[in-house]
Amino acid sequence: MRGLMQEWPLLVHTFIDHAKIHHGEREIVTRKVEGDIHSTTYSEIYSRSKKFAKALKELGVTKSDVIGTLAWNTHRHLESWYGITGLGAIYHTLNPRLFTEQLDYIINHADNKFIISDISFVEILENIQDKIPNVQGFIFLCEKSDLPDTKLKNVYSYEELINSQDDNFEWVKLEENDACGLCYTSGTTGNPKGVLYSHRSNVLHTLVANSADAMGIKSTDVVMPVVPMFHANAWGLSFSAPMSGCKVVMPGMNMDGESIYELLNDHKVTFTAAVPTVWLMLLQYLEANDLKLPYLERVAIGGSAVPRVMLEKFEKNYDVSVMHAWGMTEMSPLGTIGAFKSGMEELSFDEQMDIKLKQGRASYMVEMKITDDDGNDLPWNGKDFGHLLVRGPFIASKYMKGDGGQILDNQGFFDTGDVATIDELGFMQITDRSKDVIKSGGEWISSIELENIAVGHPDIAEAAVIGIFHPKWDERPLLICVPAEGKDPNKDNVLEYLEDKLAKWWMPDDVVFVDEIPHTATGKIQKLTLREQFADYELPTA
Ligand code: ADP
Repeated sequence: MRGLMQEWPLLVHTFIDHAKIHHGEREIVTRKVEGDIHSTTYSEIYSRSKKFAKALKELGVTKSDVIGTLAWNTHRHLESWYGITGLGAIYHTLNPRLFTEQLDYIINHADNKFIISDISFVEILENIQDKIPNVQGFIFLCEKSDLPDTKLKNVYSYEELINSQDDNFEWVKLEENDACGLCYTSGTTGNPKGVLYSHRSNVLHTLVANSADAMGIKSTDVVMPVVPMFHANAWGLSFSAPMSGCKVVMPGMNMDGESIYELLNDHKVTFTAAVPTVWLMLLQYLEANDLKLPYLERVAIGGSAVPRVMLEKFEKNYDVSVMHAWGMTEMSPLGTIGAFKSGMEELSFDEQMDIKLKQGRASYMVEMKITDDDGNDLPWNGKDFGHLLVRGPFIASKYMKGDGGQILDNQGFFDTGDVATIDELGFMQITDRSKDVIKSGGEWISSIELENIAVGHPDIAEAAVIGIFHPKWDERPLLICVPAEGKDPNKDNVLEYLEDKLAKWWMPDDVVFVDEIPHTATGKIQKLTLREQFADYELPTA
């Protein structure tokens, strides 16, 4: 017997519809790419996204067309997503930090019909124009008068397109499993692969990502998504913000400590989210200028592991609660988040920090297991570590156009490529990416854990650990450090600092200092480049 409830497809336009009716006057503030601060409301965003859908329709865009967006977090970028998806088309976020060869590859692979772009990216597009012949035009997120002087063909001003329409437009009727958004993984090995979200997966992910033990955003919150919309859907905030009716602060293109602090303070932001590198810059700025964060209540950090010093500074020095989260593009992205279970509130500060350093427990609708190399399940005891696999309704079942072939095991689980432990209470801790773990004499050393302990050294700003060939042990760890500004640490005092914090056989065999550590397009340490850079490195212990 079938249930007798209403058929109400899960479509993303319902977020902005809801916000317009129930939170129409709530503010969305943007630091525009042009530099000035702009303020609008959910009502306006709703109206302008309808106008934009109409304009796209007039340009010939129809259901299932893919529209690239090369843009920072702004109100216009947000409107464009609702316009695109309300027409049944698919937004495809283009990460401007990708190498240009990767950008033209994904634009062609996904067959972008138009590209919507901030004016700051005109040069990137000019450089690849000849390689993307199927793109019919470029819509710049600006007034007509601000259009860049460019050799690109078929250029439109977003504001002019909007101003030429009224908002009398009915969202196109769609099915909830229709495609809605597209985001490519950053392709640290081989070509990037496309993850194609559906309306249904985005709605389900939003409900879960905004549950009380996860981001838990309320209408009274002021939310600043620093994590870019081109990085795994801004972790769902483009949808959970209008669903909750919170005020939103969009930071635009400036992610430096001063710019971020200014917005946090001026707009009394209560919740924000970004990768650790952004928070490193903010904390350095706060310390150098002796500033506090009186309004900020919660910060979600993910994308890379949170170092203990960062966690403790937020919690102790600034009274901000850190929500350590783990996920990936293929998971929409949220997999786990570190909310306490009953009784943990009573633990000591240090015990609580031990829990928060783990990547957290699985959200509802995320099934998780760890297995050995032969695919056998490993126990949840916090010690055994193995391949981390996941299953659920907002996790990819295939990549765009079938790239990579079959990606699920015979039980439907997706291999995340991460190595992890899960403890008795279900808290997962990432040991490493499976390709980064250091294999020393048959045992595994976690590069992440070493890095996080090393950055606790007061004279080290950032640290990376890679495995270097060793004739006896196969691989041994090399610690690569960027000194903190004005500091001059040396190998001996770094090793001395690590001595009582590590098992003896985990101690790096050597320490080197560099000016900069390379990062991927999503802010992670670029281990592949480091491994190439140090390919011929000989350890003093070899
Ligand atoms: P990319 O496109 O760079 O792969 P993703 O955000 O999809 O970007 O990367 C997902 C990977 O990032 C995960 O598989 C994991 O290795 C790493 N990651 C994400 N969050 C964390 C975290 N909190 N701690 C450690 N690693 C993390």
